Amino acid sequence: MKKKGLLIVISGPSGAGKGTVCKEYLKNNPETILSVSMTTRQPRRGEVDGVNYFFTDVATFERMIDEGGFLEHAKVYGNYYGTPKSFVKENLLAGRDVILEIDIQGALQVKEKFDEGVFIFIVPPTMEELKRRIQRRGTETPEELLRRFKSAYEEINFITRYNYLVINDSVKEAAKKIEAIVVAEKCRVDRNSDFYTNLQGGIDNAISIHR
Ligand code: 5GP
Repeated sequence: MKKKGLLIVISGPSGAGKGTVCKEYLKNNPETILSVSMTTRQPRRGEVDGVNYFFTDVATFERMIDEGGFLEHAKVYGNYYGTPKSFVKENLLAGRDVILEIDIQGALQVKEKFDEGVFIFIVPPTMEELKRRIQRRGTETPEELLRRFKSAYEEINFITRYNYLVINDSVKEAAKKIEAIVVAEKCRVDRNSDFYTNLQGGIDNAISIHR
């Protein structure tokens, strides 16, 4: 039987650099799939429908909630965001690792349903740096900026619900750390029970031949 892919859930406050770190990871691991979320937020300059997000309206999003089409969904900064379920399932079953870059509410929902995922929290080196990064991006209004900065403080309290903490002071190093986490996770004994039971069977056989 083909081994299922690993579900990698990445969260962190706005400005932590999740998107950039994920891009760097995907550059070095092109066989990994990034799940494209659906959102009711307006596209930012340069964002492409179907690439950055599937942009949709509230009625369509709510219909998809009712139909059970999301693995998780949440309202973040007043807009809906959600992970389409079938895409993630299909890729995991085909043995491909899938990254979800989602907020904490969504990550906790996934954890409830799918505990075998690996949950990684990315933080900036300092809160001052986080503020600088959100400001530098220049895509948010001053009110939106303040809202994102305030929620960053609240989000930090949820770090303990995650398995790993990655400090993003260098994008390359942070992506390398995620690679190390993925390799380690795939070596975990509880992820390899099929292999060691086979191995045990082989040992039993070898012993009985010897007798
Ligand atoms: P942004 O508007 O900056 O693209 O994203 C805002 C927040 O929504 C980020 O924390 C991002 O990780 C989160 N987000 C993006 N897609 C999803 C999703 O499918 N589900 C959830 N729960 N959060 C998401």
